[in-house]
Amino acid sequence: MFESLTEKLNSVFKSLSGRGRITESNISDAMRDVRKALLEADVNYNIVKQFCKDVRDAALGAEVIKSLHPGQVLIKIVNDELTKLMGPVDTRIYFVSPGPTIILLAGLQGCGKTTTAAKLGNYLVSKGKRPLMVADDLQRPAAIEQLKVLGEQTGIPVYSEEIKDAVRVARNAIKHAKDSGNDVVIVDTAGRLHIDEEMMTEVANVAKAITPHQIYLVCDSMTGQDAVNSAKEFNERLELDGVILTKLDGDARGGAALSVKAVTGKPIKFIGVGEKLDKLEEFHPDRMASRILGMGDVVTLVEKAQEQFDAEEAARFQKKMAKGSFGFDDFLKQMQAVKKMGGLKDMLKLMPGLGGQLKDVDLDGSELKQMEAIVHSMTPKERRDPDLIDPPRRRRIAAGSGTQPNDVSSLVKTFKRSRDMMKAVSGGSFGGLKALFSG
Ligand code: GDP
Repeated sequence: MFESLTEKLNSVFKSLSGRGRITESNISDAMRDVRKALLEADVNYNIVKQFCKDVRDAALGAEVIKSLHPGQVLIKIVNDELTKLMGPVDTRIYFVSPGPTIILLAGLQGCGKTTTAAKLGNYLVSKGKRPLMVADDLQRPAAIEQLKVLGEQTGIPVYSEEIKDAVRVARNAIKHAKDSGNDVVIVDTAGRLHIDEEMMTEVANVAKAITPHQIYLVCDSMTGQDAVNSAKEFNERLELDGVILTKLDGDARGGAALSVKAVTGKPIKFIGVGEKLDKLEEFHPDRMASRILGMGDVVTLVEKAQEQFDAEEAARFQKKMAKGSFGFDDFLKQMQAVKKMGGLKDMLKLMPGLGGQLKDVDLDGSELKQMEAIVHSMTPKERRDPDLIDPPRRRRIAAGSGTQPNDVSSLVKTFKRSRDMMKAVSGGSFGGLKALFSG
């Protein structure tokens, strides 16, 4: 899914990854490439323009934590903006009581409407509903037969009649559903190869006659902007409640998925990701964004890093460092923050330049506990000034923390090395860590 877009965006991020900071000029270069990638993915032009502006603004305003690469920060920003563009999440189906809840499916011929009717039926059965499918596509010769076959496969009843009046079939079907205790009715209407007045009139008449509670447009995502344009036209006639995008499994570009919500204002409810009847998924913009970027791990990394090492704290450490007042308490806090981020090695491995140096290092819970015990056995003065810790003090601290004097010396050494290296690299939290473990 979306392979070509993913590949192009990733090469943009890579081109930024070697540089130290996000600046006007490198972000402009990167955004030119992002824009190109999106246009090639067949995303609507106006949307691309606005999207790139939003990303650029967010990138220039972003605090780049020293430990992260600009490429990583940009990935997170693009991820968030993609999520916004496709969102918000709205996969609810509004059921009415008393039923039946009527769901009308509209869309062009071949978009996957009939298949989707059965997929949706299956989905509803899994939610404890008793749907009825209505073969109201009287246009495509094999549509009724196809729905009947799908009905047999899924065990979902199908209503059909041998007449050419779509409005009457729909009306009769609702009555039939009421009589048979079906609580949801899925109406598969007729499409055409292209939008034409006859089709629009027919589906509008059916809608008028049975006043569906939900009207979903089924769209073939592989047709890109054509899908989006037809969605716009359907929306003007039918007041859609949402869109079901099919064939995402075969869509390398992603243009329809990215534009349809922004163009029509209607949420994507479900996506079809295969021909089989269980291949219907609720649409989640955040998951889709990370699928597009193929970078879920980096996004998580950046989020966690931002949470734990917020700019303020980094600045505070830096100031202390400059004043020479970075003590054991700060050191401990730094270690705790690292611990909170999860497996230290796993996190840092993701950071270019750090992973290799951390191969044999891990900070597990027990090591951190020991560090804490040692620091807590120090007097406040000792915590501020490790040079005070002479052999008698070392013995006292070891006794107080249930450790050996050796453990105390090694922590003091580690602390000093960290502090000195942090000074040298001017304070980035991870700079300190890197020094700590590489010496
Ligand atoms: P309709 O004319 O809109 O009713 O379209 P159909 O339901 O007959 O579907 C047209 C073709 O698209 C069929 O071959 C389906 O199997 C296929 N199709 C539908 N949804 C999907 C999907 O999500 N993924 C894939 N790969 N094929 C799909």
